[in-house]
Order: sequence, then structure tokens, then C-alpha cells
Amino acid sequence: MTPTPHASTPLIGRDALIAHLQQLLPANSLCVEAEMLRAWECDGLSAIKQVPWLVAMPDTLEQIQAILALCHAHRIPVVARGAGTGLSGGALPHGQGLLLSLAKMKSILEINPLARTARVQPGVRNLAVSQAARLHGLYYAPDPSSQIACTLGGNVAENSGGVHCLKYGLTVHNIHSVQIVTMEGEILQLGSEALDSPGYDLLALITGSEGMLGVITEITLRLLPVPEHAQLLLAAFDTVEQAATAVGDIIAAGIIPAGLEMMDNPAIRAAEAFVHAAYPLSAAAVLLCELDGSAAEVRERTAQVETLLERGGASLIRRAQNETERALLWKGRKSAFPAVGRLSPDYYCMDGSIPRRRLPEVLTRIGELSEHYGLAVANVFHAGDGNLHPLILYDANQPGEVERAENFGADILTLCVAVGGSITGEHGVGVEKIDQMCLQFSDAELACFHGIKAAFDPAGLLNPGKAIPSLHRCAELGAMHVHGGKLPFPELERF
Ligand SMILES: Cc1cc2nc3c(=O)[nH]c(=O)nc-3n(C[C@H](O)[C@H](O)[C@H](O)COP(=O)(O)OP(=O)(O)OC[C@H]3O[C@@H](n4cnc5c(N)ncnc54)[C@H](O)[C@@H]3O)c2cc1C
Repeated sequence: MTPTPHASTPLIGRDALIAHLQQLLPANSLCVEAEMLRAWECDGLSAIKQVPWLVAMPDTLEQIQAILALCHAHRIPVVARGAGTGLSGGALPHGQGLLLSLAKMKSILEINPLARTARVQPGVRNLAVSQAARLHGLYYAPDPSSQIACTLGGNVAENSGGVHCLKYGLTVHNIHSVQIVTMEGEILQLGSEALDSPGYDLLALITGSEGMLGVITEITLRLLPVPEHAQLLLAAFDTVEQAATAVGDIIAAGIIPAGLEMMDNPAIRAAEAFVHAAYPLSAAAVLLCELDGSAAEVRERTAQVETLLERGGASLIRRAQNETERALLWKGRKSAFPAVGRLSPDYYCMDGSIPRRRLPEVLTRIGELSEHYGLAVANVFHAGDGNLHPLILYDANQPGEVERAENFGADILTLCVAVGGSITGEHGVGVEKIDQMCLQFSDAELACFHGIKAAFDPAGLLNPGKAIPSLHRCAELGAMHVHGGKLPFPELERF
């Protein structure tokens, strides 16, 4: 993969920028040596790399304001970065720009048990909030599998999801307000602790904006009481289609589990070898279904789900017997990406979402594409949300395999759009899926996105070249917007 070209030309050179920044920042806040800069050359999408001009690591709001105002004055592109776990290249550096690391902004400023809120700096790790809030019987619900490392700033910028978002919502549903600094260095306070706020909903706009509208400098999160009781069920199936159908059956019965996840056989095997959770190795697919709430509610729901799983043809249904077993079964699921990473030299993690009822046919089609491209695929995903994560296994050292993996991935995304879904469920667009945006949105819709970008960042300096393709680029690609899930071009009718 090659990085997307970017337009902006800085008005000063790298050495002059370093000299200016040294005036603004304390010692040990800049990284300028070539060897050190390599550490920031990519995020979780390691197929695309770009060494930044330099990296700044501010530790106060005032420093961030001063850095942005300076870069604005000299037309220097700025890319914000949290932990760099993003999987779509959102934090890919700019070759003639500043990488703004928020890693030092990692204080939990306040936990208010009465208001059930946490006020945090952007570099706080996702898991650290729940660990701190547990003292008060509270937790932060969105739990990306990367939660041990990823930051809340990154979560807001990507509108991240996780295993428990089916019932409790994505990041956007679990934040009250954010403070951002614009490219000009202005502070904006968006949202409030009230249920509604006057004016346009800029909080929702910033959530998922992939670092293109402003730098998030503080977040007020919504905390929830730790559920009184939680029961995790594991169900094994002889076919992937049966497992996928059971997902729809559970939701259609009016049950919203706290989490409803699926792993196919390659993912089960990889996770088992990684965590030894006694997953059934011969199953074609397993579902992990968690019910939470009061003890009585959980008892009743668990029995209902077990009946549905039995009717759906499950060959095995197992209840986690205690907290240790429950944690181990979730650990296997949450470690599935690195576990699958041990199966082949490289893997490409796709992220798309589809209407739940289309799961069986889409999974079958992904299996066919796997044969077509001669590349294995492991599926591990948020089945309840219809959010797919096919992991395409390849070896970058084998000629042609990178291209085959990319084409396979692009076909999966096209398939998602064709069945009425979306090219991203939670990992964002970044540089990875920028071309597929031309399929997903019409020219008028893309023009609207460009208008919003220009309102926040008229000079186009924040994270340029990401997330929103130019209309020119879409025209060059000859891509056609897919209207209402109906493909207008016959060669893709196979979907
Ligand atoms: C093993 C693994 C499992 C994962 N599982 C999940 C999952 O279950 N659900 C999920 O949603 N994602 C998942 N991800 C993807 C990733 O962890 C999330 O997108 C996460 O939110 C990124 O956070 P980060 O701090 O690493 O951000 P980065 O990767 O550093 O940045 C991501 C984007 O946010 C922007 N950004 C970062 N900080 C700021 C800020 N302060 N202000 C403005 N913009 C900012 C960057 O410019 C970039 O566009 C997974 C990744 C891995 C490697």
C-alpha cells in the first residue's frame, strides 16, 4: 500500500520549526532523531508507513494551543496521535508535518460518583477509567479489544466500539462533553452533562471525526454502575451459517445481550492456542453471549437464550461457571487479533458492518472470496452489531500477496455496502478505506463533509489526506455511489 498524497506545503523548513517548538516546550518534549522517529512511522495498519518530520509531546493545554497556532501560522500539517492502535491508518504521520502525541496527557482529572462521570485527559487508556471507577462500583462501558493500550482521545476520534457496545452503545453514546483545540489554537467546549444542549450537536460531529476537525484535549465520560450479575454463555455450532442465524434469532426474541460475539474455526483455534480457555476446537463457529442485570433477570434471559441456541442447532452450550472462567473466555475473544497474528507472517484486519439478517450469506460469500484469492481468512467479530472483522492472512514476502490481500479486502467492503451496510463499523476510514468512501457516499454528501472540514479547519492542515476523498479522486477512480444497497454496475452483481 502507498500513502495517500497530501497537498500542503509548509512555509518554513524542519529546522526552523524545531527551533520554534524548542521555545514553546520543555526539554524532552520533542523527538527529532531519524532513528527515534521510526517508532511513529505507522499505527496498527503497519502496511502503510511514513516517517514524520518530527514528534511533539506536550503535557499542557496551553502547549497544545501554542503548537497548533504556530503550525497554523506556518502551514505545517498536524496529525494527532493517541496510542497508535488504530487500524485504518488514521494516525499515519505526514512526511512534512508534525505528529502531535497526546501520550503525556494521561491524568484522570476527576471521578464524580454522584454525577457518574469521569473527566479525563485524552491520553488516558480506556481500561484505566474502569479500573479507577471500580472503587465506586462504576465503569466505562465501551470496551475496544485494544482497551489495555488505546486512549480515550483515540476512542472519541474513532467513535470506537467494543464487545459490550451492543447493549450500552458506542463511544458517542457514552460521553457528555469534550474540549477541543482548533487548528488556530482556539478552545471549544462541546456538549454538556444535560441530556440535550442548544445549537448544532457538535459533540456528535467531533466523535468519529478522525482527528480532522480539532485536537481533543479533555473528555467527560458517562459511567455506569457495574452490573449486579453477568452470565456468559458459549455455544458451538457445526456450521457458520447456523451460528449467524442464531444471532438474529436472539435479537428477534427481544433480547439485547451485553455482548454477542462470534469466532469461526480458524479464530477459535488461534485464540485457544493463545489463552487456553477450553474453546471447542472442532466447532465451525462459536458464539459468546453475555447477559447482565439483576440476578433474576439474568437467570430468566439465560434460560431463554439457551432455548434459542438449542433450537438453532448448537452442538454445545456451556455456562461460564465463575468469574475466572468468564474472564478467560472474554480474554480469548479480546486477544483474537494478536492470536490470529501468530498463524501467518501478516494479517489484514477488515472492518465493515452489515444488517444482521444478512450475516449468513455474507459470511458464505467471504468464504468463497477466500478461495478465489487463495488467502485464508479468520472471522472474529461483534456479531450482535453486524460488525464484521475478517482477518485476511498473507505473507508480504510472497510476490503478489499484498495486492491479493488488498483486493480481497476491497471486495469485502464493496460487499458490505452492496447488502446495505457500511465500509466501517468502528475502525474508521483513515487512509485505508478512503477509496471506498466513493462507493458509500454520493458527491453531494462528500461535498457536505468537505464543507464541515473547511468550517473547522479552513487551511486543511489537520490530518490531511484522511477519511474524506476529494470528488476529483472519486471521479478518477470511476467509483460509483451504491444507492440504497443496490449495485448499479453489473460486474458486481455477484454480490
Ligand atoms: C488488537 C486490536 C484490537 C482492536 N479492537 C478494537 C475494538 O474492539 N473496537 C474498536 O473500535 N477498535 C478497535 N481497535 C482499533 C483501535 O484500538 C481504536 O480505533 C482506538 O480507538 C484507537 O485509539 P488510539 O489511542 O490508539 O488512537 P490512534 O491510533 O493513535 O489514533 C486514531 C485516530 O484518532 C486520532 N486521534 C487520536 N488522539 C486524538 C486526539 N486527542 N484528538 C484528535 N484526534 C485524535 C488520530 O489522528 C487518528 O485519526 C483495535 C486495535 C487493535 C490493534
